[in-house]
Amino acid sequence: MSVDKAFREMIRNEIEVQLKPLRAVISRLEAGTSDLDALRDVAERLAPVAQAMAPLFGAPAAKPIKRGPGRPAKAAAQPVSTGGKRRGRKPASDGSRECAIIGCGSPSRTKGYCAAHYQKLRMLTKTNRRPSAWVDYAPPNSVEDIRLPRGRAAAKALAQAAQGGSST
Ligand SMILES: [Zn+2]
Repeated sequence: MSVDKAFREMIRNEIEVQLKPLRAVISRLEAGTSDLDALRDVAERLAPVAQAMAPLFGAPAAKPIKRGPGRPAKAAAQPVSTGGKRRGRKPASDGSRECAIIGCGSPSRTKGYCAAHYQKLRMLTKTNRRPSAWVDYAPPNSVEDIRLPRGRAAAKALAQAAQGGSST
């Protein structure tokens, strides 16, 4: 009888001692100055005691322990959600300029040309047919588009260009 009482007293004191730092940590957590490592440490130290307590005092003794591991996850999730959203990739290195080709109207992407016309410029350059007006960083709507020959004429133009001819 008295042994049992003394034992309970001892356990109660032990809990009180162990709970003190946990309470302090929890209050610090609630104040916003999270000290997760300290909380984890206390929870780990408390775990075996709590397991021994549970049958003696029932559910209430186990409650603080469950709280320990639960809190850090919640607190750790918060900083992640506060990450600022970055705008997608819309560099527009030339500001809001339009394509250099007259009447195109698409925003310029590279060297003053829109994506499509820059591809055309590259192709013309590669096949040695780049018009002199198609300069890099030409002002918006300043360069006349050219119509590329098709079919047999295209083959002829390419052949001429390959020979160094300067027709169109
Ligand atoms: Zn264009």
